[in-house]
Amino acid sequence: METVADGLIGAIGNTPLIRLKRASAATGCEILGKAEFCSPGGSVKDRAGLAIIRDAEARRLLKPGGTIVEGTAGNTGIGITLVANALGYKSIIVMPETQSREKIDFLRMIGADLRLVPAKPFRDPGNYVHVSRRLAEELGAVWANQFDNLANREGHRTSTGPEIWAQTGGKVDAFTCACGTGGTLAGVSFALKERKPGVKIVLADPEGSGLYGWVKSGDLSVSGSSITEGIGQSRVPANLEGAPIEDAVRIPDPEALEQIYDLMIHEGLSIGGSAGVNVAAAIRVAKEMGPGHTIVTMLCDSGARYQSKLFNPDFLRSKNLPVPPWM
Ligand code: PMP
Repeated sequence: METVADGLIGAIGNTPLIRLKRASAATGCEILGKAEFCSPGGSVKDRAGLAIIRDAEARRLLKPGGTIVEGTAGNTGIGITLVANALGYKSIIVMPETQSREKIDFLRMIGADLRLVPAKPFRDPGNYVHVSRRLAEELGAVWANQFDNLANREGHRTSTGPEIWAQTGGKVDAFTCACGTGGTLAGVSFALKERKPGVKIVLADPEGSGLYGWVKSGDLSVSGSSITEGIGQSRVPANLEGAPIEDAVRIPDPEALEQIYDLMIHEGLSIGGSAGVNVAAAIRVAKEMGPGHTIVTMLCDSGARYQSKLFNPDFLRSKNLPVPPWM
């Protein structure tokens, strides 16, 4: 085992797999969360940032001192910017202005050239993804294109997936997580299925996303909305295509928040909105499979990234969401 990480790059990945005690006790299963909030940039997207930059280098698209542009809900922008800082590249990050204040501040703190744009649906040319693509074209820079660049899921197939396999000693019966790009779900699923074809793969989806309907009936129909960030989709990104997904669960915000607050107060674990959706989904999968199974999910980032939202009584009340008594 390596004991010294070689700079930032060496410190990305190899996150702990944490047994969630109350969820496990309540279901009679082992419910395990991959603690991506331990990554240097604070999220699962450090892995994607690194994988995409390494791939662009290998394909000689990214030259020394070059610029990489990305559209992001924030975490990928953080991952790309930190990796760019460590390897001598520049980053330009395009992000919808509706994302949490904490992610915006963090990106500014780490020196990203941040361009906030109004939140628009994907079909609108002003959508952050399209703005970032056009900007990269205009500048002759590399466009990271996390949604459709398969280097993203390949990074998870070769890092996150094998880590989960090794950490569980192959004793994993199901994997569930939500999708932004689908890189995590697809990459981990491919890696686990290669090693154990019987492992069950379940998409976790927030309200307001079309992916639940897509898995259940092939129909990307959308209803409701969610305060979670970085997950949910109205289309199927290339990174998600062909992933061996067998089932889907839809998690309303209050169910995710209950897990977030429970883990904080009873287990001392601080997780963000998408991780709350994932833990709630893991519990549902465990209840359906019955006691004695091991279900793995992702703890994508930390609650600290959403202090002004998930841990702000005024914000919660404005969304008609319950405020925990201790807040
Ligand atoms: N959770 C959070 C907090 C994220 O920022 C993202 C990425 N947007 C995801 C989950 C989803 O990960 P992926 O893009 O690999 O589907």
